Parts: sequence; structure tokens; C-alpha cells
Amino acid sequence: MADILDGKKLRDKIFENLKIKLDKMPIKPTLAVILVGLDSASQIYVRNKKKTAEKLGINSLVIEYPENITENELLKKVDELNNDKNITAILVQLPLPKHIDKFKVIDSISPDKDVDGLTPYNLGKLFAGEEPYVYPCTPKGILILLDEYKINIEGKHVVVIGRSNLVGKPVAQMLLKRNATVTMCHSHTKNLSEITKTADIIVSAVGKNVIGEKMLKSNCVVVDVGIFKDENGKVRGDVDFEGVSNIAAYISPVPGGVGPMTIASLMLNTVELFERNL
Ligand code: NAP
Repeated sequence: MADILDGKKLRDKIFENLKIKLDKMPIKPTLAVILVGLDSASQIYVRNKKKTAEKLGINSLVIEYPENITENELLKKVDELNNDKNITAILVQLPLPKHIDKFKVIDSISPDKDVDGLTPYNLGKLFAGEEPYVYPCTPKGILILLDEYKINIEGKHVVVIGRSNLVGKPVAQMLLKRNATVTMCHSHTKNLSEITKTADIIVSAVGKNVIGEKMLKSNCVVVDVGIFKDENGKVRGDVDFEGVSNIAAYISPVPGGVGPMTIASLMLNTVELFERNL
């Protein structure tokens, strides 16, 4: 039976240490979150981020706009936050409505307040093998989780499924930097299972049930990033958890694996940006 990569437990440990650090800070970081529209998942995510920040002693400010806000109004707000000395971290909750160019909005965030690490400056630094202000939250959380369980990355064949700017591409670069041999797969990949069978570590960030036990070799490590609701409304990951648990050495559950690590990384990034800019 596979060991569980327990993101919840590790998140709690990270928060305990962060709280001790924040309690000693005379001035606290302030995280500003922009939420556009009424997407229910986004509303839940933003509420959790605010609640978590406040529990740790990070100031948080949620700025909500209706679905029909113009791109210019949004850009103006980001500019205002960029220039506000009291705001130390900015996050624009995605997705944005279709009439707004999300790249333009993300690009407008000051790199030194870009808590998601998604601006071209920070992603560019990451892809150049240099140090960004901060690393994107989900990839960072995945690496922290693998390190906690002392999973060796160097020289391993890691197969990353999904190539988004949010997860797939940055996690592949971070693993490459740690000397993994990385293969990236996506919806046009032929014979996915032929590739996954050669993986020592799999990172799956798709949002569909794509990984079953027959696609893997024994004792591999499986990191499941995907989250979606199945036809019965049950929250699921990309991986057939029960089957894969029989063959893998380690597996991250959904929920309770990468999700908690993403929020832990967001809080770590908020504090890191604040400390760098002091
Ligand atoms: P995304 O932008 O939705 O992209 C999905 C990726 O999966 C694309 O690269 C797509 O390929 C690929 N794909 C789709 N069908 C595939 C298939 N049958 N076989 C192989 N690849 C396939 O992805 P995302 O924003 O990275 O999110 C991915 C999942 O992770 C979602 O379920 C999301 O909710 C979840 N997520 C979780 C967390 C967390 O904290 N736990 C954080 C972020 C995201 P193409 O590029 O060819 O279209």
C-alpha cells in the first residue's frame, strides 16, 4: 500500500512556524485579493485565503468587482495597489471574465508584489534558472511536499501531465532545476500510458480522471494536482486513488494533498515578499 503524501499535516506544521514568525513581526504583511464576478469556486477559494491569512496574523483585503467591470478599471485598481505602500502582496483570482485579457492584468502586477509568481518577470526568472521574487504557489507546494517525504528528485524521470502556466510549465522547470529528467504531456500526447509507465514520479494537473494503476510502474510517486467533481458531485483528483495506491510507493490524496500545500505556499510567499521588501 502506498504511503500518503499528507498535505494537510504539512500545511499545519508550516502554519505553526509561520504564526510564530508573524507574532514576532511589529508590522504585518498585507495581502490584497481581487475577485471579479460570482464564480462560486473562486468565492470559496478567496474566502479561505482571507480566513487563513487572518488566522496567521497577515492583514488581508478582498476587493470584489461585478462580472461587468471593464479591463481598464481593473488595471487601474492593480496600479493603485502597486503604488500603495501598505499593500505588500497582490493576487488576482482566476478565472477572469472572458472580456478581460487575463495576461494583461497579471502582467500589470508589480513583480515584487506578485504573490502567485505568475508575472512574466517572475516566470521569466524561473525559466531562465534564476531566482524569481517567489515561485508559483502550487508548484512550490508540490516541491515542499516531495522534500518533506525525502523523495529524491535528482536524476529521476518525472512525467508532468498538463502544461498550464499555473502548474504544469512552472513545476516542470522547478523539477528540471533540481536535476530531474522531465517529460511533459498534454491533450495531444500520443500513448500517454507508454510514457507514464517509465516515470519514477508523476505530477498530474489535468482536471480529469486520466491515471489508472495499469499506466504506472511499481513504486512510483504520484502527485495528484487535479480537482473536479464527478457525475455524483464527489470531489476527485486525476488519479484512480484506490487502484494506484496498490502499486505506487507514495500518493497524494484529493482532497488533502496538493490543495493545502497551495494555500501554505501562498502564505509563505506573502511573508517572503514582505521580508524582501522591508
Ligand atoms: P488547465 O489550464 O485546465 O490545463 C489542463 C491541462 O491538461 C492542459 O495542458 C491540457 O492539455 C491537459 N489535458 C487535458 N486533457 C488531457 C488528457 N486527456 N491527457 C493529458 N493531458 C490533458 O490546468 P490547470 O489550471 O493547471 O489545472 C489543472 C487541474 O489542477 C484542475 O483540475 C485544477 O482545478 C487543478 N488545480 C489544483 C490546484 C490545487 O491547489 N490543488 C491548483 C491549481 C490547479 P492542452 O494544453 O493540450 O489543452
